[in-house]
Amino acid sequence: MEPMSTEPMGTRISKSLRAVMRKRCPACGKGRAFRAWGRFMPACDVCGRTFARLSGSSTGTMQVGSMATVLFAIVAWFVVRAVTDLSLDPALIVTMSASAIFGVWFFPYAKLIWEAVDYVIDSSDEGNQ
Ligand SMILES: [Zn+2]
Repeated sequence: MEPMSTEPMGTRISKSLRAVMRKRCPACGKGRAFRAWGRFMPACDVCGRTFARLSGSSTGTMQVGSMATVLFAIVAWFVVRAVTDLSLDPALIVTMSASAIFGVWFFPYAKLIWEAVDYVIDSSDEGNQ
């Protein structure tokens, strides 16, 4: 169903990242990826790509989400310490709360980033269905 791509890897990566930012299919960049918050469409309605077709895709999603949340927490910690004069405990509570909210907000992007990784790496896959 999904044609083998002849695009160079760099083109595929940048195209997929743009699609992720717009919550679109990483393969074609056009079809909607989600039917509701964090819930994939079964397949892209433009190119037919099946989403989350790998059995371990939730593990990849968790890894991407965890890494992004940790990076956010580190940056948030330094920002909170730099722009406020909160003592340690309140600063920790603010940082942890903001990081938890970020993690929830970022979840669909984590799913789609992992989907994009699958798409970019698995360029020669012909057994999509
Ligand atoms: Zn598509």
